[in-house]
Amino acid sequence: MREERKGMLVVISGPSGTGKGTLCSRLLNDDPSLSFSVSATTRAPREGEIEGVHYFFVSEQEYDDLLAKDAFLEHATVHGHRYGTLKSQVDRMMEMGVNVLLDIDPQGAKEVMRQRPDCVSVFILPPSYKELRVRLHTRNTDDPREIERRLGNARGEIEQMQLYQYAVVNDDLDLAYHQLSAIITAEKQRTTRYFPVVE
Ligand code: ADP
Ligand code: 5GP
Repeated sequence: MREERKGMLVVISGPSGTGKGTLCSRLLNDDPSLSFSVSATTRAPREGEIEGVHYFFVSEQEYDDLLAKDAFLEHATVHGHRYGTLKSQVDRMMEMGVNVLLDIDPQGAKEVMRQRPDCVSVFILPPSYKELRVRLHTRNTDDPREIERRLGNARGEIEQMQLYQYAVVNDDLDLAYHQLSAIITAEKQRTTRYFPVVE
C-alpha cells in the first residue's frame, strides 16, 4: 500500500507548570513522526539546556532583528522574556511532511490558531490551582514571586480554554499522555492529511 501524508502542526499550550514540557518530551521520544519546533528566546539558558535543541538563545538585539525580518510565525512576551516561533523551523518541516510540535504560551497559541486554522490545538490543564502551585515549586526554576505571577496568569488563561479543539487534564501523567497521544493518532488519519493509495 502506498500512502502520502501532509505534515500537521500541533499546538500544545496551557498555563506554566501544567506539564506541557513533560508531555511534549515524552511524545517526541515515542513518536518519530513528530519534530519539535525550536523557538528563539531572549531568556538565559538554564542548566542543561542546549542551544538549538531547547531554544535558540538570542540577545535582545538579535531578537529585534528577527522581528524586523518578519521571521516569526508568532511571538510573545511570556513572564518577562521574549519568545518566538520561527517560520523557517515550522515551514521547513511541514514541507517535508513532518508533524511539528509547538509548546507555546496561550498568547502565541491564539496567534497560531488564527494564522494556521488547520493546526491541531490542545490545552493542558492542571487538576487544581493548589497542585499547580506545588508543581511550580517542585520544578524549582522560579522564585516565589514569579510563581505567584504565573499562578495569577493561569486563571485568565484557563478561561480561554474554549478556543482550543481539545482539553487534557494532566492529573495522572500516564492518563494525560494516553489522551494526548490518542488525539495525535486520530488527527494523523484525517483525510485532509492522509492519502492512502489503493493499488
Ligand atoms: P510546563 O512545561 O507546562 O511549564 P513542566 O512540564 O515543566 O510544565 O512541569 C512542571 C512540573 O510538574 C515539573 O516538575 C514536572 O516534573 C511536574 N509534572 C508534570 N506532570 C505531572 C503530573 N501529572 N503529576 C505530577 N507532577 C507533574
Ligand atoms: P520556559 O522559559 O519555561 O521554557 O517557557 C516559558 C513559557 O514560554 C512556556 O509557557 C512555553 O510554552 C512558552 N514558550 C516557549 N517558546 C515559545 C514561543 O516560541 N512562543 C510563545 N508564545 N511561547 C513560548
